[in-house]
Amino acid sequence: MNRSRWIVVFFALASAYAQTPEMKVVNAAAEALGGKDRILSVKTIRVDGYGQQAYQNGGGNPTGSPDAPQKWTNVNGMVWTFDLEHHRMRREQRLVQDFVFAYARNMDGDTRVNQVLDGNVAYNVGADGRAVRANDAAARARRIDMLNNPVVMVRTALDPSTKLSGLHTSGKVQVMDLTTAQGDKVRFAVVTESHLPAWMSWVGPDNNLGDVTYTTYWTGFAIENGVRLPIGYNTVQDWRNVVWSKFYIDKNSVDVPVSDMSAPAAVRAGQAPAPRPPDVIVTPIVKGVWYLHSGGGSSTAFEFADHLTLFEAYGNENNAEAIIQKARTLAPGKPLTQVIVSHHHFDHSGGLRAAVAEGLTIITQRGNTGIFEEMAARPAKEFPDALGRNPKPIKIIPVDEKLVLKDSAMEVDIYRVISNNHMPDGIMAYIPSAKAVAEGDLVDEGWDIVWWGDSYNATVKYWNLQVEKDLPVHGNIHTYEEVLAFLRSQIKNAQDLCDRAEKSHLTLQGCPVVNTF
Ligand SMILES: [Zn+2]
Repeated sequence: MNRSRWIVVFFALASAYAQTPEMKVVNAAAEALGGKDRILSVKTIRVDGYGQQAYQNGGGNPTGSPDAPQKWTNVNGMVWTFDLEHHRMRREQRLVQDFVFAYARNMDGDTRVNQVLDGNVAYNVGADGRAVRANDAAARARRIDMLNNPVVMVRTALDPSTKLSGLHTSGKVQVMDLTTAQGDKVRFAVVTESHLPAWMSWVGPDNNLGDVTYTTYWTGFAIENGVRLPIGYNTVQDWRNVVWSKFYIDKNSVDVPVSDMSAPAAVRAGQAPAPRPPDVIVTPIVKGVWYLHSGGGSSTAFEFADHLTLFEAYGNENNAEAIIQKARTLAPGKPLTQVIVSHHHFDHSGGLRAAVAEGLTIITQRGNTGIFEEMAARPAKEFPDALGRNPKPIKIIPVDEKLVLKDSAMEVDIYRVISNNHMPDGIMAYIPSAKAVAEGDLVDEGWDIVWWGDSYNATVKYWNLQVEKDLPVHGNIHTYEEVLAFLRSQIKNAQDLCDRAEKSHLTLQGCPVVNTF
């Protein structure tokens, strides 16, 4: 071998050693997307499109069955912009629920989202243009959302401050672990043959499900101003393989003008809001029954001869824990042992994991037991919650149509709800001594429309109950006459919304309104 050939071999070896196997794959991905220099020179990206999101992450369907039809929230007018020079991102979209719901604004597309990340500062811009600082969890979620764009992902992987490790082949892709300078961990996969980015995955915290792994698949890479970007984003959860979100891209634009995303000085100077326990206000109803009002969702407590039982563990760990602690002060010496959960929807079961961690037995309709068992069995190791720190098996007492809880001190009768398209597996609690009903989602004075407005009256009639008072999860205590008046006017508002849609030659789900009384 002559001298010049030795030099060639030397340089080949030197460059091989300078490049980790992970960096070789990243460099090939950069080439596939338009070349390393082009990718690193990108200043702005604008992604216009639309899509759908699983309502309540798959926990808002009519029932908790894995076979229940998925409710979708439509995402219209998505404008997803990146200012890569300054590490900023904005997501603007209009959310429209593609199912009947309780607020007209959720059905006619007036819910606008304008979420921004500026470095590590997350803020939201309201309809009035006011910017409000978002919490640290939102900042983390938005840093991950930036990496959800494959060009941003490859640029981040090329950054010397990013750690790459664990390269391995899995089927047709090469997979590596990536830790950003901010400490965010994601997994990144590149198609072995084309070198195009295939998917990224990450773990996020969830109130109801503990640690959730999300995987976003990128498809349909099209060239735009020298850079390849996907026109399909499909994100799947590791719980039931629920499609968490799907986005259809109308247009990718590269190095076009984008809006100023810098955080206003007042936002930047303020602190990221930290969660604090809600105030729980106790109202005695009759002997042994207390209404525990919380802005985060209310509960009712019942005192039996040797224990206390709660109705609902709503919202999240923070709200449920505040209510559980308050309930424990009501009858000193008696343990709180049970919680009745009205239905499986992820807002109403937001405190389920906290309740299980507290050792409470769950009382719910039999149709909810499967999903509750799934929820309680999931780990929370990356983002520990009460149950993640203190794993326990769930204890459930299932109710079919009726269950009477009765001893020498208290009687609470649990009934399955009737004629309810929102929660056919829902239950409510009737307290004979108070002629009162504790319920979730049968009524809310704050709703402006309703599509299951006949259910409360139908349930009361079916079970032949004498009801004078409503103890709601949402809103405030009202008489039963007031409840029926709220529902009648909300039903009328729903019909008016249907009429407006009809006059505009548009169709709207749930029209005309048939659940009337
Ligand atoms: Zn509900």
